[in-house]
Order: sequence, then structure tokens, then C-alpha cells
Amino acid sequence: MHSPFCRRRCSYCDFAIAILRSSSDVDRFLDGISLELEHFGDSLRPRTLYVGGGTPSRLAPADLREFFARLDRTIDRRSVLEFTVEANPEDVTPDRAVVLREAGVTRVSLGVQSLDPETLRQLGRRHTPEQVRHAVTLLRDAGIRSINVDLIFAVPGQTPSILDADLTKFIELPTHHVSAYNLTYEDRTPLRSLELLGRLTRQEPDSELVAFRLVHERLAEAGFAAYEISNYAKPGHQSLHNLTYWNNEEYLGVGPSAVSCVGHVRWRNEPDLDVWFSTLRQGLRPVADAESLAPDRFIGESFALALRTSRGVLLSRLERRARMPIDRERLDRIVRLMELRLLEREGPRIRLTPRGRELADCVAAELI
Ligand code: SF4
Repeated sequence: MHSPFCRRRCSYCDFAIAILRSSSDVDRFLDGISLELEHFGDSLRPRTLYVGGGTPSRLAPADLREFFARLDRTIDRRSVLEFTVEANPEDVTPDRAVVLREAGVTRVSLGVQSLDPETLRQLGRRHTPEQVRHAVTLLRDAGIRSINVDLIFAVPGQTPSILDADLTKFIELPTHHVSAYNLTYEDRTPLRSLELLGRLTRQEPDSELVAFRLVHERLAEAGFAAYEISNYAKPGHQSLHNLTYWNNEEYLGVGPSAVSCVGHVRWRNEPDLDVWFSTLRQGLRPVADAESLAPDRFIGESFALALRTSRGVLLSRLERRARMPIDRERLDRIVRLMELRLLEREGPRIRLTPRGRELADCVAAELI
């Protein structure tokens, strides 16, 4: 579920968001969610639910409660094993924490990014480190079972010692999961504009690698296992929902710009709130674009996604799902990547070596 509202755009973000200006924006969003869910009748029995954005926590507590009530009219939640909601630290109030708990949310993903004030400023985030600590306390006190914190590294001006100090503060937080991302410079973001104007310098690839290794080492020492290239969990706290994506399994996206993949067909909703809503009001599905994945493409993408996980790829499972054998050329490339010690065999699975993890995007490009 994509809730598109944000207070303003963070410097690195290129997501489809909407700045929340009036209560009529919220009314259209809630009505649109109901209309979109009605397309699926009462047949939805998901294993996981994930409300992301944008920032769902921008919704006022009463609107958030109403949003969950509308989900319950269509979705049979008895099958749900994990229910995640994204939140920004400054939005977590006692009222919202109670609404989350009463709705049955099991996991909250906090957009922390850093606990260093200067790094937060570079990223255009509005919260303070104190607000992060307060948010974690409120969520724990409310009984939320699992808390994730997002972290961004390789920010301009962030030396290894600044990152190291930041990691110490992350590790001190009583959380269960860390998603750690190398900063990227997407087109048409404020960050990219500043770079083009020469007002900031991105880190060199070698410095980014030093940062990646530091993140990996410090989190591993603190008991967070890297079960995916960017994701670290304490035992029992891996994200079931995100594993669905990495296993290239089926998912249904609802809301502006939400992406779905069912069978081998993938589609994306209209990103603009008004277009998405008016399409639904006309009784139509708000699909902006769709593609059917040929079996060969499905194999390539599935391979690249599953390789991101520490378990790696089970070739026989991939062939079964694609209903075709892996072609000779791709097998040859796998062998070559093994000779280069970027891939390795672990029983029936193929996975990245530690060096392969550092070059994962290149390895994936070879195999897609
Ligand atoms: S809060 Fe999240 S979705 Fe909203 S602008 Fe910032 S990074 Fe993007």
C-alpha cells in the first residue's frame, strides 16, 4: 500500500510523493484506496501487509485509524504473518503509536537515515537524534514487536570516523533490524542539482567501499546478520515482506505509483494522486504501464534478486518457476563468475562471495 504524503521532499528522494496540503487530499486518498481494493472483491488473503510511501505516518491519527478500517473491509487479515508500516521519527506520537498497535501492526520501519545532525541536514531530513530515540521508546512501549531503522551511508562530508560514531549510536538503539543504503544521486533530486552546481562532491567509489565494509563489520559485531546486501536483522526479525520481492514472488500494490507483480505480469499504478483517484472514480483500474516478463527475462531478474540474499539462488526452483531450463550462455557466465571468485556454490545453491557482495550490481548485470 502506497500512502503518498510527505511534509516536503528529502534531498535524495525521487519517489512519487504528494505534499499533504488539505484534508480533501486525505479524503481522496482514503476513498481511492477503498475503490481500488473493491476491484479485488473479498479475495485478498495476503501473507504480509506493508504500508509505505511517502510516509503513512503523515496521516493524522484519526485518518490512520480510518485507513486501517478500510483495509479491513476487503482484506482477510487472518492469514497475515507480518504487518509493517513506515514512519518518520518526528511523526511518532503516543496517539499514533496506539493506533498502530490497535490495528495489529507488528513491525514499524523508521526513516532515521542518520543520528548525526550534520548528516541529517545534508539529507534534508527534519528530525533530530532525540526524536529518533523518543520514537523508538514510544513504539516499544506500545508493544510493536519489530522495529527497523533505515540508515544511509557515503553521504558527502561523512568521514569513516563520523560514520563509525553514527553506527555506534544506531547499535545503541533497542531495535531489531537495520536497512543500510549507499547514498544514490537520482536525477531531478535536490541532491543531484547541488552536485551539478558544484556545491557538493559525492564520495569516490573507494570511499563508498570503505563505508560499506564499515557498516557490515559494525552491524555484524552487534549481532545483526546480513541476510540481504542492504538488510541486517537480529534473529527472528528478517522482513518476510521484503523476502517476497527478493524471491520474485507475487505481490499486489495498491495506491498511487504502487507496483504489482502477479504471474509474470508486472504493472505500476498512476503516480499522480489526482489521476489515480479520477481513474478509479470512472470505475477503471489506475494502471500507468504494464509489462509481461518473458521466461528468460524472468530468470535473469529472479537470479539477480535472489543473489542479493545470503541464501542465494536455488537453480532448480528458478527453472521450475520459469518453466524452462537455464540457457547455456547464462550457465557459462555463472561458471566464469565463479572462476573470478564473485560467486560460489553452497550445496545446491549459488551465492555471492564476500567480494561478490561488494560488486553485486556488476554481477547482477552480467546475469540479467
Ligand atoms: S520522507 Fe521518505 S518518501 Fe518522503 S520525501 Fe523523504 S525520503 Fe522521500
